[in-house]
Amino acid sequence: MRASQFFISTLKEAPADADIVSQKLMLRAGFIRKAAAGIYSWMPMGLKSLRKVEAIVREEMNRAGAIEVIMPIVQPAGLWQETGRWDTMGEEMLRFKDRHERDFVIQPTSEEVVTDLIRGELKSYRALPKNFYQIQTKFRDERRPRFGVMRGREFTMKDAYSFDRSADAAGVSYDNMYAAYCKIFDRIGLTYRAVAADTGAIGGDRSHEFQVIAATGEDAIIYCPDSDYAANIELAEAVAPAGERPAPGAAMEKVYTPKVKTIADLVDFLKVDIKQTVKAVVVDGDGEDGQPVLLLVRGDHELNEVKAGKLAGVKSPLTFASPDSIRAAFGANPGSLGPVNFPGKVYADRTVAKMADMITGANEDDQHFTGVNFGRDCPEPIVADIRNVVAGDPSPDGKGVLAIERGIEVGHVFYLGTKYSEAMNATFLDEDGKPKFFEMGCYGIGVTRILGAAIEQNFDAKGIIWPDAIAPFTVVLCPVGYDRSAEVKAAADKLYGDLVANGVDVILDDRGERPGAMFADWELIGVPHRVTIGDRGLKEGKVEYQHRRDSEATGMAVDAILEHVLAKLG
Ligand code: ATP
Ligand code: MG
Ligand code: MG
Ligand code: MG
Repeated sequence: MRASQFFISTLKEAPADADIVSQKLMLRAGFIRKAAAGIYSWMPMGLKSLRKVEAIVREEMNRAGAIEVIMPIVQPAGLWQETGRWDTMGEEMLRFKDRHERDFVIQPTSEEVVTDLIRGELKSYRALPKNFYQIQTKFRDERRPRFGVMRGREFTMKDAYSFDRSADAAGVSYDNMYAAYCKIFDRIGLTYRAVAADTGAIGGDRSHEFQVIAATGEDAIIYCPDSDYAANIELAEAVAPAGERPAPGAAMEKVYTPKVKTIADLVDFLKVDIKQTVKAVVVDGDGEDGQPVLLLVRGDHELNEVKAGKLAGVKSPLTFASPDSIRAAFGANPGSLGPVNFPGKVYADRTVAKMADMITGANEDDQHFTGVNFGRDCPEPIVADIRNVVAGDPSPDGKGVLAIERGIEVGHVFYLGTKYSEAMNATFLDEDGKPKFFEMGCYGIGVTRILGAAIEQNFDAKGIIWPDAIAPFTVVLCPVGYDRSAEVKAAADKLYGDLVANGVDVILDDRGERPGAMFADWELIGVPHRVTIGDRGLKEGKVEYQHRRDSEATGMAVDAILEHVLAKLG
């Protein structure tokens, strides 16, 4: 590619509403442009990187035996009504009516459509196992779209769905996807951790998230540096006592309360199931004997009524053992709940206790924490405090002590059991001639989010430093005086031709920019390998090579540069 024939659009300053480094750099480097909150155009430079991520994902999915399909972005409400998710998905799912007043959704995920698709297609056990995937636009009307492509409303996801004869076979499909995900994130060049995770709205039992380690991550993960133990803190809070864990595929709701594991879950539960909006969540030390009290201010009350002490906390400890007990507790009290016990959730209890410690003494007017959620949107002092609470605690596997760090969820694998096949009556005929429900799994990767996550791990004061695998261009040639010097032009064109002939994704900056501006652009854009060609060097038969992480350029003989660059690319 020649820069003059491409589109390069860099900005000196990031727009004022950009919050984190990846978002700022993607905007400044001309990768994306904002159309609306959480909705972006992909500019040519950004699209180059995005397509590389997609290609790696596609290649590894194909290699793992998954088969590519494309399912509609616009999906009929009827399918979502069959599984009941029309009612449970809430406001995150974008709904609309067509001209005939029929309801539709813009897909936030595709379990319903894929299950509908295969119930007409896969009739016999002989056709199994099968795994279908798509790389497709999703829309989720996120409550707080932010951080650019990291939490967009419109974004690209790779979503795959496996269909198996038995739970054991589904376990094999799950492990196969888990391994493929490791390959994908290794190839992209991310530092990540696979963590045990909550199953969320999708349901099921077996679930891992792939978390890219970064300070700006919205998830808090606890892990044991001395063993393989790692879990999303949402799950760590929710781990039910041994024996209470549901069997794979069992309806978890009947065993314990998977819906209500965090305060955010509780708020959602109250809203969806009890049709009560919660105006604010306040952690206070006002309980009996200074016990921590979690105040959930109902939508029909004002926060200052709590502050004025008008809505007192209940006196006896509440255990959120079941939706019914929560319903009863909330219904019976005007605006508050507490002290809080999540069943079997050691960390949640201790964290609440610790938070109360923090505010003892500071328990004056306006000293309440509001909007508390341990999983995300969590104020930094509280995250730091969770760190204190768990750091040094024994790991549940008994192999060491726990530590905590922040992560960005870039991938998620779920075992679904027969949740969707039963709801949608999707069966195949097994060897014994009897119809059986498909055992399913679903597997998501945040394709667009990966770009943001990769930058959060790879940047410096000058800009992005792309891993080779997903850089918009792998090599940039920077001729100084391309438009003035015949020697420079000839040397640059020759090297460019040689690199292209070797299959290298190279861009030749033939725009005739001044060296300072030209270098600044490429450092911002983050192309990992740069060769500078100038008259002065050429007189001595030399050009300069510099990796984006190198502090200085290295002189190279003109006739050695091609081999040098190819060797660097491995
Ligand atoms: P999160 O916890 O960040 O909201 P999720 O658990 O709701 O994500 P999944 O339903 O597991 O997301 O979807 C699969 C993948 O899609 C996620 O692992 C993530 O990488 C990506 N993803 C989810 N929501 C968004 C979003 N709003 N913007 C960009 N990528 C997203
Ligand atoms: Mg989400
Ligand atoms: Mg999640
Ligand atoms: Mg997830």
